[in-house]
Amino acid sequence: MTQLHVSAALLGSEYETSGPVKISIEDGRIAAISPAAKPDGPARLAIPALADAHNHARPLSSTSFGCGGKPLEQWLPQLAVMPPVDPYTAAAASLARSVRGGATSVMVHLTRAMGQKSLPEEAREIARAAADVGVSIGFAISMRDRNPLIYGDHDALLNGLAPEVAQLARKTWLKPLPTVAEQLALVDQVASALADQLHVDVQYGPTGVQWCSDEMLRAIAEASARTGRRIHMHLLETQPQRQWLDQTYPQGGVAFLDGIGFLSPRLTLAHCVWARGQELDQIAASGARIAVNNSSNLHLYSGRAPLADMQAAGVAVAMGLDGCALDEDDDGLRELRLFHLLGRRPGFPSDRGVTHAAALRAACRTGRTALGLPDGGVLEVGMPADLLILDLDSLDRDALMPVPAQDLLFARATAAHVVEVWASGRQIVREGQVLGIDLDAAETSLRADYRAGLPATEPLRAVWGQIESAIGPHYRGCC
Ligand SMILES: [Zn+2]
Repeated sequence: MTQLHVSAALLGSEYETSGPVKISIEDGRIAAISPAAKPDGPARLAIPALADAHNHARPLSSTSFGCGGKPLEQWLPQLAVMPPVDPYTAAAASLARSVRGGATSVMVHLTRAMGQKSLPEEAREIARAAADVGVSIGFAISMRDRNPLIYGDHDALLNGLAPEVAQLARKTWLKPLPTVAEQLALVDQVASALADQLHVDVQYGPTGVQWCSDEMLRAIAEASARTGRRIHMHLLETQPQRQWLDQTYPQGGVAFLDGIGFLSPRLTLAHCVWARGQELDQIAASGARIAVNNSSNLHLYSGRAPLADMQAAGVAVAMGLDGCALDEDDDGLRELRLFHLLGRRPGFPSDRGVTHAAALRAACRTGRTALGLPDGGVLEVGMPADLLILDLDSLDRDALMPVPAQDLLFARATAAHVVEVWASGRQIVREGQVLGIDLDAAETSLRADYRAGLPATEPLRAVWGQIESAIGPHYRGCC
């Protein structure tokens, strides 16, 4: 039995600030929470750990590869300049940063497998990395079969390029893909390979409506209903996607998804920045949830998610970092603050829109549902012992008078305040350092591997400017 003695904690489903308490942990769960005397040592605040409901476990920031500062439609294809590296080290580094940023459960939507091993073998490596770091993961296997480079007519775009550039573009993005049945079977193979990995929830990961044919979406909806396997998909992330959806489904893109049985409590949709009121109602009624990724939306010119409208429509909202936190540091606590700040409605009364409790519910509790974790995200007896111990002395740096810990958390908390992280009763961060792997060594190793691998993508980097210059006009004026 472990006992954590803290100066304050955010307790229960309303995350109310308590006085000093002792939190007892037994068999991975919270066995007791009892009032206690003020601890002698430094002041600490216990809060539930975060669940990152949308991420891709990218090894290093894509900005370091020249992909920064552009809209999603130009950024995404440019990721092809990143050469493959060791999947274990890649996942371990990313997940360790997530843990240091406060998340003990993370969605890994695997949209860019390294591809050096079979997918089930690569999946075993990612699962091993998650176990070593100490996190639970949702593991959504990418599925796609349309619009590989742009939404629309590829010939028109490629014919405008120099022939050798067009040929390289075809080779890079227009490779033939496995059939729908083969892609579904691959998810089954990965699930079989990970059947003994209880910290992994394998899911269908269609990349987005604009990237998946109707046939594929129908087949996934049917397979999910049959097997109970969850689905994780991007939806309406950007304005060009909004326009493409409206053109392709005049009867309504979300209505189409509803009609084929795609929307259900098994589904988590990432982003939905451009979802309209009626679509939010349909999503809410289906029991599907939305993972909102504010920093990513800001970085990639996607816009601002209508968080308060989502909440008002009754949508279960979760929080994701999408591998693209505000400072590219996987800091879940800064993201939590941003989630709250962007979710509030202006003016009075001040409790409209996303409150502190609603933000914590999204970031700690709803996200776990998306990752296949049945409970947790609150500090209550019987719940999984997934929690963060924050440096309350440093949070309350002025120490002038008693101030509610929630106010300090939502005004200034970052990953720098994380002292300890506990996941299912196991300590995985001590004094701000990840215990399960050597994060510095993993990142150093990744940088060396990338430097060694980068010459392989030099031909693509040499002509990327020409391709990017053709993609921009394809969307300009489209919306
Ligand atoms: Zn994403």
